[in-house]
Amino acid sequence: MAEHSSDRQSTRALGTLLDHHAAVSIGLVAGLLVASFLLTLALGGAHRVAPHWFYAPILLAGIRFGLAGAFPAAAAATLLAGPLTPGNVEEGTPQDLSDWLVRGLFFLVIGVAVSVAIRQGLQVVLTDHRARRRRAELRRALAHGEVELHYQPIVDLDDGRIVGAEALVRWRHPTKGLLAPVEFIDDFEQLDESTDWVIGQVAETVGGWKERLSLDRFHVAVNISGHDLGRGSLPERVEALLAPTALAPSDLCLEVTESAVVQDLDEAAATLAALRLAGTTIAIDDLGTGHATLAYVQRLPVDIVKIDKTFTAELRPGSPSEAIVAALIGLSRQLDVGCIAEGIETEDQRAAVVRHGCRQGQGFLFSPAVPADQFERMLAAPHPAAPGQPPRAR
Ligand code: C2E
Ligand code: MG
Ligand code: MG
Repeated sequence: MAEHSSDRQSTRALGTLLDHHAAVSIGLVAGLLVASFLLTLALGGAHRVAPHWFYAPILLAGIRFGLAGAFPAAAAATLLAGPLTPGNVEEGTPQDLSDWLVRGLFFLVIGVAVSVAIRQGLQVVLTDHRARRRRAELRRALAHGEVELHYQPIVDLDDGRIVGAEALVRWRHPTKGLLAPVEFIDDFEQLDESTDWVIGQVAETVGGWKERLSLDRFHVAVNISGHDLGRGSLPERVEALLAPTALAPSDLCLEVTESAVVQDLDEAAATLAALRLAGTTIAIDDLGTGHATLAYVQRLPVDIVKIDKTFTAELRPGSPSEAIVAALIGLSRQLDVGCIAEGIETEDQRAAVVRHGCRQGQGFLFSPAVPADQFERMLAAPHPAAPGQPPRAR
């Protein structure tokens, strides 16, 4: 315990060194260089004492600034401990050229190599330390109810009916306000408990909507991570989480982004096949943005492909994006899987994806992701909506 806390203290101290203001570090390095020079003179000159203390400012500069700091510090040390320092101060004898050249070479090679190696090691330790701190903070946020799910409607693009929803995580941070996933999702996905928490919340919330609003067919999508696919227990956990609620496995769609699957395609395929056997549907999210779109579609069990918003955003007649969207929709038709277009913001974009044969979509044209109670009111609203208007419930 005491060992841990002293570890933490030293990491914090080294972190402070790397983080503190550049001007302070430059001042410290310059001060140490001057002090080293004066000390060498005070002790009688470079022939009396080898001025090893010059390594201190070189190491400090290298640790703080990397090569950009170590080089100039080593060069300054070479000058100060070389031509500017007499061999013997009292007699005023200069040093041999070969002495200070060799010393300068040592300053450069040893000082630079050691300081840069320490800096890199420190960066690894600090990055890990910071990641652990951020994850602990997220765990605390989960326990204190600061993490919540918002729901974005997935609509029938012909008549605007809500046919489903995608659950999207948000962090209501006590000081920073409502944070989007981009701010914390990498850490969130690393928490073993995060996907279980999302699925548990979704099962309870959407199961409640189904009961209160007598929805018969409604699917809710949850994003899962590569981390989840590497854990074979996901299918059993999903079943256990859904069992006490009114949400059936067939109401749940698990979305996997292309980049998430990259780690191990065979393992991912096995986990997804087991999930599908349990009744859930599988969507490939952000289709077309990864490195192996076709391999995923070929090798993974897929029910739905989601066209990424970067393509929808650039949809103009005759544009490359239109060709890509048409090809992806065509691919889904050939494979006999569903297709959802993401990021529809304008009526023109809606009309274009419909023209190419996509029947479902989501985007700000219909609604952004909203808190659960607001989504339930949207679902319950009786009035019909034209395409591109706020959608109505089935
Ligand atoms: P995604 O799964 O592709 O989700 C769609 C994202 O597009 C959401 O961003 C949504 O708010 C945004 N969006 C929807 N319509 C539009 C539109 O018309 N225009 C634009 N510009 N954007 C639109 P969000 O909520 O910031 O989520 C970002 C990503 O974070 C998600 O991308 C998903 O990969 C990840 N994510 C969100 N929630 C979770 C979660 O619970 N677990 C995991 N593992 N990942 C999550
Ligand atoms: Mg998604
Ligand atoms: Mg997406």
